Amino acid sequence: MPIDVKKANLHPTHKCSFCGKNNNEVAMIIAGDGVCICDECVFECVTLVFSNNRRLHREHDANGESHAN
Ligand SMILES: [Zn+2]
Repeated sequence: MPIDVKKANLHPTHKCSFCGKNNNEVAMIIAGDGVCICDECVFECVTLVFSNNRRLHREHDANGESHAN
């Protein structure tokens, strides 16, 4: 029944643990074990993880050069 899904989405049943927005204010909320995260925060987290990965990779490369010397 699609009406059940609509009803569930209309009421703020979930709140993002990161930014505090509820499921009415964002496109999607993913619920975990006692925590929830919205699509916007997922995007920010992914961006952060990828930029950190790049930085760590660079530091690792610099370390390798330093070790050789
Ligand atoms: Zn959020």
